[in-house]
Amino acid sequence: MTSPSPFAFPTDLDGWLAAATQHADDAVSLVRHFDGELRAGAATASAALELWNDADLALRGALSEAHVLSEAHPDAEVRAAAEESVQRLEALASARLLDEALFAALAAFEGEPLDAEEERLLSHTLRDFRRGGVALAPADRERVRELTDRDTELSLAFSRNIREGRREIRVAPEDLAGLPQDFLDAHPAGDDGLVVLTTDYPDLMPVREYATTRATRTALVAAYNELAWPENEPILAELLAVRAERAALLGYGDWADYETEPRMIGSGAAVSDFLERLDEASRAAAEAEYPLLRERLHRDDPDAGEVTIADFFYLLGQLRKERHDVDAQLVRSYFTFDRVLPGVLATAGRLLDIAFEPVDIATWHEDVHTYDVVRAGERLGRIHLDLHPREGKFSHAACFPLAPGITGRVLPEAVLLCNFARGLMTHDEVVTFFHEFGHLVHDILGGAQRFARFSGVATEWDFVEAPSQLLEEWAWDAEVLASFTADADGAPIPADLVERMRVADAFGRALEVRRQLGHANVSYHLHVDRPQDLQAATEHWYSVTSPVRPLPGVHPYAGFGHLTGYGSCYYTYQWSLVIARDLRSAFGDDLMDPSVAARYRREILEPGGRRDAQELVEAFLGRPYSFDAYRDWLGAR
Ligand SMILES: [Zn+2]
Repeated sequence: MTSPSPFAFPTDLDGWLAAATQHADDAVSLVRHFDGELRAGAATASAALELWNDADLALRGALSEAHVLSEAHPDAEVRAAAEESVQRLEALASARLLDEALFAALAAFEGEPLDAEEERLLSHTLRDFRRGGVALAPADRERVRELTDRDTELSLAFSRNIREGRREIRVAPEDLAGLPQDFLDAHPAGDDGLVVLTTDYPDLMPVREYATTRATRTALVAAYNELAWPENEPILAELLAVRAERAALLGYGDWADYETEPRMIGSGAAVSDFLERLDEASRAAAEAEYPLLRERLHRDDPDAGEVTIADFFYLLGQLRKERHDVDAQLVRSYFTFDRVLPGVLATAGRLLDIAFEPVDIATWHEDVHTYDVVRAGERLGRIHLDLHPREGKFSHAACFPLAPGITGRVLPEAVLLCNFARGLMTHDEVVTFFHEFGHLVHDILGGAQRFARFSGVATEWDFVEAPSQLLEEWAWDAEVLASFTADADGAPIPADLVERMRVADAFGRALEVRRQLGHANVSYHLHVDRPQDLQAATEHWYSVTSPVRPLPGVHPYAGFGHLTGYGSCYYTYQWSLVIARDLRSAFGDDLMDPSVAARYRREILEPGGRRDAQELVEAFLGRPYSFDAYRDWLGAR
């Protein structure tokens, strides 16, 4: 079978502008055509599902492309046109789920003999229709349609404000004490004698980790916590109201109940229980860690009071250096971007028995590296790595699908949008790179499917962070790191330093889990409690979750990008981590064990969304997963 053709990108700005609109128009026409045929009645269940899949494929492909362009294209006009396309395509997607004739055309085949995959597509799609509101009275259906469209519009605006809301502060050169020399060289003082620091990660991360001047850390972290505020305040307030009304109309207790119904966790109440379980599992260790941070802070300044989130990463770094002889700046000297990129590719390639062949094509920006994903001469997919910050680009790190893979028909393609330094990278950045690459290979290897609905990262949403968090482990393996690191003299990172990094990493882990639990509490309680005062509620949840204090009076929810896509379900990260820790245990002492790796690829990644996540995990582990490996990891000292 010949491999399908990859995406052909426009070559000039006019082409991009046209594509940003035209591809959505084309998809709308295709969907109308296939839906028309389906409404007219298909002869067999298989024929009906194929028609549904054809429309689904057109819609998902165009939506993926529009999302990537809206977050990554360097031209603001293209981004705006792509955003309009997202809005239009999302509106079509939700309108279809309110279409009684379409629903009836599929529901007619319920109970007929189907193969397992058809059966799964039919039952999932009928559930989508019910969740979309098809069974409501006409007035309620219309209201759900309005609310769903409004959710899309508000979510796009929320993301845009974060993307375009970069902030800057100015500090005196002497206030950069503690930062590495290459950082200082790249940040000279301006005409006013002051140095500009931005909230982009390549400035934020080193400052919050290395700056010994507390005021500098606090000023930049405070600026970061004010990202997209006040613009996003009314947007978020309305988004929460829209979601609550939609959940109520659809017959759910709250938005968390609506969101969790098709996920592993199953209900909003179970989220609350899970958060309590995390609280209980991490409380004692966090309480033991906190006094050490406080004591270290007071060695800098006896009047410093309590540790804040602007001190957290700095203090962890200092303590890891003093207690475990891990100097983060020394560690950083081994990770030049130009070595890390091929290192990540080689590691993932070796693990998953794939190769990455560079492809010399023009994409949306010259920074983008494109590779074909190849095994035994066969092209399995294509990836695009857009890894450095620029004005107006998505400001965090994430994997975006570009084309949903269909065997023999559509080549799976996916994109990483990250914001890494161009020179030396912190080890945190390297871990993030492995994390996002875990999503990327899931998307590509899960992209050999019959139905678009199950292509790529298409499992239950609270499982999606398991493959990504699992791959982070490879960034902590001495042998793996030695294979691509080098200091200025060409020597790889020594194994004993990596071992000390691992020991040091365990210190502060419970506090880090509680920081994550703080995000999960905010995401859940803003959606479920519906507080009037978002600032007060957010500060409350961060304050009661961790002994590390939030900065007072700031508005971090305005820049909390996950509140759109993850909604009430930020718990996903820890839920997936519980599973990832158990998956990790199967590799034992050898992360490159070929038979375990092959089983992982076959049982977890390649099925995409074809089977329930619980089944994937059991097929890989040979037993149901448990909380034990996570608990051990949390208690590891
Ligand atoms: Zn992730």
